Amino acid sequence: MEYDVIIIGAGPGGIFSAYELTKKRPELKIAVLEAGHGLDKRRCPIDGEKVKACVKCKSCSIMSGFGGAGAFSDGKYNITNDFGGTLYKYIGKKQALDLMGYVDEINMSHGGEDTKLYTTAGTKFKKLCMQNDLHLLDASVRHLGTDVNYVVLKNLYEYLKEKVDFFFDTPAESVFGCKDGSGYEVRCGEAKYFGRYCIISVGRSGSKWMEKVCGEMGIKTKSNRVDIGVRVELPAEIFSHLTDELYESKIVYRTPKYGDLVRTFCMNPKGAVVNENTNGIVTVNGHSYEDPEKHTENTNFALLVAKHFSEPFKDSNGYGESIARLSNMLGGGVIVQRFGDLIRGQRSTQKRIEESFTTPTLNATPGDLSLVLPKRLLDGIIEMIYALDKIAPGTANDDTLLYGVEVKFYNMEVEVDEHLQTEYEGLYIIGDGSGITHSLSHASASGVYVAREIGERA
Ligand SMILES: Cc1cc2nc3c(=O)[nH]c(=O)nc-3n(C[C@H](O)[C@H](O)[C@H](O)COP(=O)(O)OP(=O)(O)OC[C@H]3O[C@@H](n4cnc5c(N)ncnc54)[C@H](O)[C@@H]3O)c2cc1C
Repeated sequence: MEYDVIIIGAGPGGIFSAYELTKKRPELKIAVLEAGHGLDKRRCPIDGEKVKACVKCKSCSIMSGFGGAGAFSDGKYNITNDFGGTLYKYIGKKQALDLMGYVDEINMSHGGEDTKLYTTAGTKFKKLCMQNDLHLLDASVRHLGTDVNYVVLKNLYEYLKEKVDFFFDTPAESVFGCKDGSGYEVRCGEAKYFGRYCIISVGRSGSKWMEKVCGEMGIKTKSNRVDIGVRVELPAEIFSHLTDELYESKIVYRTPKYGDLVRTFCMNPKGAVVNENTNGIVTVNGHSYEDPEKHTENTNFALLVAKHFSEPFKDSNGYGESIARLSNMLGGGVIVQRFGDLIRGQRSTQKRIEESFTTPTLNATPGDLSLVLPKRLLDGIIEMIYALDKIAPGTANDDTLLYGVEVKFYNMEVEVDEHLQTEYEGLYIIGDGSGITHSLSHASASGVYVAREIGERA
């Protein structure tokens, strides 16, 4: 099967590459190879009744399939260079922001037009945070919500399916090619696909495969950081003054004890806590719906500490995985603990969780996070909870729930040039799979960027 462009991975990076290529060069023949299912077949078996916990499906519908890891996400498109990736280091700050704005316009014209764009510009909370040694990062955030995000993806698929050949349940196994740009052969089992250009956008779920391909092709990589922490869940009223105005606030705190940076991440007002399965390891995440009927009573967000190992140990992800495995070993999956129990040095029990004034939105195993998280990380998280309590009183209440562990794995950072092209002519690595982006908006913007590059060259 011969194509002009083969795209591996149908997450936001792959989708926006395909979209932009069809706009700029409609005559090009494009294939998208995706390990997971089509959007309509993506279904996580956890229903909260018959199936309460992760059953470790072969292809995780939360992480894989059309829409990628973003399909059932909260659909928060942060338009900023302050977090979400370092795309700006390759393509410049202005261009990165312009592309994120362009992605926002496409989302708005495919079903997202009634959603709200929140911004930190001119907010009073910046001062309040500073007065309490907390630092609010600048961003505009479009909250599509899990429901509208799905509609936008559905509409994008409807547009693309006539113009692009999609191959679902088709994991790429290997990539062959020469550095001279004579094209790439991608093998998926018995099937072979040939493309003059190849865009790899395999996200976090494709991290192990990406490492294998880079090893085989001699593409240089360097170790990246890993973010480890917990997901906090509390009554929505506690953070409502912040979330009503900003929706999501990215707040950073430097711990006095170790000088580590702890930050809030992925805030979901009136949302739900969910499991996430990365390469068989169950961690925790969160999302929320735009539709008020699907709102819960709680707000959740992650508190994360970044760790980066380089010498002599380089495997930051391996470190994060070991901690997540420990929580899976002790809890059979994700562990939940009341903040009051953690402070008093006692494990949470089913009874204590049932008696809690905060009702958990995820069915996790009551346990003791101090047996899982290293002291340095746990101390930082506890200090941050007390710091947040000053701007959102109630954060440090006994019944605040902590789910562990939340781990943000970042792919090894792949060596690419300012065109996001590897040393192989015509082979591009983008999105979270490149280790350069860590968010919907940055991954999508990187897709548009390489599509325009190819559009001019092909
Ligand atoms: C529950 C959850 C909530 C999130 N919420 C947000 C949010 O609100 N805002 C935000 O900015 N970010 C959020 N994220 C992160 C965001 O989803 C990712 O940053 C984004 O999806 C990255 O896009 P991508 O295209 O690079 O990779 P992905 O979305 O991971 O897509 C990669 C695709 O490649 C496929 N693939 C992997 N290996 C292969 C292979 N060998 N062959 C073929 N296909 C392959 C995968 O199946 C997957 O579909 C969330 C993530 C999760 C899991």
